[in-house]
Amino acid sequence: MSVFGSEIVIAGGGICGLATALALRRKGVDSVVLERSSTLRADGGGIVIYSNGWRVLDQLGVGAELRCKSIIMPVKNEFRCLRRSDLVEALARGLPEECIRFGCQIVAVEEDGVTLFPIVHLQDGSTINAKVLIGCDGANSVVAKSLGMRQVTPSTLWTIRGFTDSPNGHRHGRAFVRLLGGDVTFGMMPIEDTFMHWFLSFRWVSEDSKGEKTPEELREWGMKLVEGFPPEASELVKESDLGSLILTQIKYRPPWELLLGTSRRGTMTIAGDALHVMGPFIGQGGSCGLEDAVVLARNLAGAVDEGQASDHPHRHGRLLPLQRRRIEVALDGYVRERKLRVLRLSTQTYLVGLMIYHPAKAVKLMVILVLLAFFGGTSLDHVAYDCGLL
Ligand SMILES: Cc1cc2nc3c(=O)[nH]c(=O)nc-3n(C[C@H](O)[C@H](O)[C@H](O)COP(=O)(O)OP(=O)(O)OC[C@H]3O[C@@H](n4cnc5c(N)ncnc54)[C@H](O)[C@@H]3O)c2cc1C
Repeated sequence: MSVFGSEIVIAGGGICGLATALALRRKGVDSVVLERSSTLRADGGGIVIYSNGWRVLDQLGVGAELRCKSIIMPVKNEFRCLRRSDLVEALARGLPEECIRFGCQIVAVEEDGVTLFPIVHLQDGSTINAKVLIGCDGANSVVAKSLGMRQVTPSTLWTIRGFTDSPNGHRHGRAFVRLLGGDVTFGMMPIEDTFMHWFLSFRWVSEDSKGEKTPEELREWGMKLVEGFPPEASELVKESDLGSLILTQIKYRPPWELLLGTSRRGTMTIAGDALHVMGPFIGQGGSCGLEDAVVLARNLAGAVDEGQASDHPHRHGRLLPLQRRRIEVALDGYVRERKLRVLRLSTQTYLVGLMIYHPAKAVKLMVILVLLAFFGGTSLDHVAYDCGLL
């Protein structure tokens, strides 16, 4: 199997992979997204998008339609919670049908011994020769592994997330509410006036942590976790839509690995969670991946020789090293532009996580001082960031 008509391959059709394909398309460059699932993956309930993410969604041409599907919350910056399904569907709708190939699980990646371009191996035994490979394949990225990045770190924190529909309107207003109770955090944020996304995060080191939970068990567990919280928390959990409940372990790539790791080799790079999976404590993982998409497409578009688009793939062997070099320089531009921003967000997230969940008061205090000194405390300055035009 070869990629005809496009030689940019994007591994993973999540938020970042789809946004990258759409950003490239808006620059006039075709790509192919390889997604292992058989349909668009839209699990995970809601996702908060701040101003920095909305700036990207506007540039991708989906901001206006998504704003109609979520209410704005009353804070200084634009801050809305979306259904993840609305977000991925809007991104996918902007792409031609043939751009996303479902049921394509990447199992390995290597470099062609002659051309040095990437070769992608799929689970069904087929291979794809690519000119550029962008790994947007999430926390357990095969592409990141092939670049020599370490496995991401699993934390002892887990979340249960869900939706609660209240056809007669809920009584919690439009604010994002976060309540702390020891090791448990409960948060709720409205998507619409009658539709609420909520989450519970908590420590869990149980032996059976790999065991599957039924939705009923998750709800029961959620009810236990919110004992002692104000009654609206248990009401939301009790009345939640069982089909929306999801249990997730928080994983992260420590900031020092971002500093030391390699995120580009040859014409391969990574973006989104594959590069910088972080805890949800400042709600920036998704928006950071959207920023990656714009910066990557901006750098790459000029370097890709569109004249190649209609070429037969066997020409791969004769592609000039000069062309490869142009792509490598473009990808280095992307890596350079993103380095500090990604490092800063991931460090801030890491510190906020420590501040909330570390058991030692002395550590919490030290972390607060560092946050105050280097990150403006818990201010939202980071959401004012503008990754620039496509
Ligand atoms: C509890 C929780 C709450 C969060 N809340 C927020 C929030 O409010 N706001 C925010 O901005 N971010 C939030 N995040 C982070 C956000 O969800 C992620 O940063 C974002 O989903 C990452 O998108 P992605 O496309 O990089 O990766 P993913 O969403 O993981 O997508 C990767 C895609 O690649 C596919 N794939 C994986 N491996 C392969 C393979 N080998 N071959 C082919 N396809 C493959 C997967 O099926 C998937 O579709 C939260 C995260 C968690 C865990």
